[in-house]
Amino acid sequence: MNIQKQQFGRTPEGHNVELYTLTNSNGLRAKIMTYGAIVVSLDVPDRSGNLADITLGYDTLAEYIKANPYFGAVVGRYGNRIANGKFELYGIEYKLAANNGPNHLHGGIKGFDKVVWNAEDFKTKEAVGLKLTYLSADGEEGYPGNLQCSVTYTLTDNDELKISYDARTDKATPVNLTHHSYFNLAGRGTSDILNHEMMLNADAFTPVDEGLIPTGQLLSVKDTPMDFTAPTSIGVRINRDYQQLKYGKGYDHNWVLNSNNDGSLALAARVYEPGSGRVMEIHTTEPGIQFYSGNFLDGSNVGKGGKVYKHRYGFCLETQHFPDSPNKPDFPSAILNPGQKYTHVTVHRFYTR
Ligand code: BGC
Repeated sequence: MNIQKQQFGRTPEGHNVELYTLTNSNGLRAKIMTYGAIVVSLDVPDRSGNLADITLGYDTLAEYIKANPYFGAVVGRYGNRIANGKFELYGIEYKLAANNGPNHLHGGIKGFDKVVWNAEDFKTKEAVGLKLTYLSADGEEGYPGNLQCSVTYTLTDNDELKISYDARTDKATPVNLTHHSYFNLAGRGTSDILNHEMMLNADAFTPVDEGLIPTGQLLSVKDTPMDFTAPTSIGVRINRDYQQLKYGKGYDHNWVLNSNNDGSLALAARVYEPGSGRVMEIHTTEPGIQFYSGNFLDGSNVGKGGKVYKHRYGFCLETQHFPDSPNKPDFPSAILNPGQKYTHVTVHRFYTR
């Protein structure tokens, strides 16, 4: 078990960016940098014990700064979309950037994925970790309130990467922090993810309009290509003639998790890659998960080791509150008030079969 720290580069504004390498007793290795609290790589063994990096990303800071479709990043202040970049809170209308057609996406022009976080590493008996903190100022990207956030990555000897989020505010504000790694469990991002078998512990999803804004309904997944209650290859139904898949250009939707509804950890997803035998399980305290099948990857991102990330070469599973919750009174509230504490825990557990 150990932690190493090195210089990763410098932002154009002159901020130093550090890269931390966390290694657990079994050799699993996570590299995390202070820019965007980004997981740069995650090395996990296959069924023969060979390590490979199962996340997409870049080799250099400059490439992350230039054009990053949220590879590995922490997304905030509000992950996912807010319709027309507007919401009303206690009678005041707030206006956010429209950075995704008419809508607001992933915290705006300069979201939490593009800021430099403070970092402190730590070691316990059975884990190594990194606590990253960031103060998002009142008015940043149009959001109300000074929001003091922390994100803690813990790599345990049980082969889990645990992500714990905390936040406090001095004015009511929406908060929806999530993690945006693109996974490819085959390793090194050299093939599409369509043969990965996935189970989502969700009986319903939130259907969207053509701008990927939820309509407000919860729809049963039964008899639709959205049904992942039993393990199913991602690719078998992805091109079906189904309106929701057309809007998403594939899967790009929020599933309503069969959670315990009491803020405790519950199984959200299990993904298995038959070639390598790798399994990733996701447990979360959040009510929803966005499954995005990498539909916008088109080969224009050349990643680590010169790998060209083509269509659907990675998938994301973003644990979250539902998209556009600030405008959907029937969805679980994503509003944090002064005096309250936002918490969110997601555990990624790795093993092989
Ligand atoms: C969204 C996609 C978006 C992608 C950006 C995902 O979380 O659901 O619609 O294109 O992030 O990289």
